[in-house]
Amino acid sequence: MIICVIKGFLYVRRSWNDMETSFRRTAEAWQKVRDSAVNQITVTGMVLSSVPIGEYDKRVVILTKERGKIAAFARGARKQSSPLGGSVMPFSFGEFTIYEGRTSYTMVSASISNYFAELRNDVEGAYYGFYFMDIANYYAKEANDETKLLKLLYQTFRALVKPSIPNRLIRCIFELKAISINGEGPQVFGCLVCGDKERPVKFSVKRGGLVCGECDKGIYDGVRLHPSTIYTMQYIISTPVEKLYTFNVTGEVLEELQYIIGKYMDAYVDKSFKSLEILEGLINV
Ligand SMILES: [Zn+2]
Repeated sequence: MIICVIKGFLYVRRSWNDMETSFRRTAEAWQKVRDSAVNQITVTGMVLSSVPIGEYDKRVVILTKERGKIAAFARGARKQSSPLGGSVMPFSFGEFTIYEGRTSYTMVSASISNYFAELRNDVEGAYYGFYFMDIANYYAKEANDETKLLKLLYQTFRALVKPSIPNRLIRCIFELKAISINGEGPQVFGCLVCGDKERPVKFSVKRGGLVCGECDKGIYDGVRLHPSTIYTMQYIISTPVEKLYTFNVTGEVLEELQYIIGKYMDAYVDKSFKSLEILEGLINV
């Protein structure tokens, strides 16, 4: 009799515990649903990189207008049936609905307006694209206003899929504009020591821009540039991103731009990129 009572008591207690656990789980599940609805936002951006995680997922880095650079998990994106599959490829530009968790973002859905699919059949163009993505990834920061960089990236890709401007010029324009947006652009509007705009100038990578004949003592890396090269650099730095890819230059100016911007990037970008190494292998064949 006593044993029966104890058994009955234990049974009731166990059932009660089970019920409590089940209530708690239901409450937690509802909280998650409420959180995901509350913390769900739609951002406009471009996929910079995408790496596989585990068997089915991907970790995607997106440059967004609203949140700067973010990393988001795209669950199940590696499954063939996943609606996220194509959206999380690098170069995809569009709107991404993401859920903000405590420590990371999770991608809920995506609506892509431009995949820049032309680059899938253009190995050289694609590697220019990967290199531009790497530069953007290098400069962009989380929770920072990266609207200008995103616009630059988008317009650069639009130029890349059109044949009117040579890729080598697109690269010069992108590099100089990206470094300028980041606040490390060269001074090309006058002598960086005295501000003079009339005297002949040389470009010093070490000093970060133009130096006039009166102020060039102790400067050993000065390069005299064609006036059109200086004008082109001024144009790239001062023109809004939307109007950047509207001009062409002579072969001589392009050579100088490539030389001087290349040296400048080497000096001010503290990282080497695999994409650039591959690109240079492709274009120097
Ligand atoms: Zn000067």
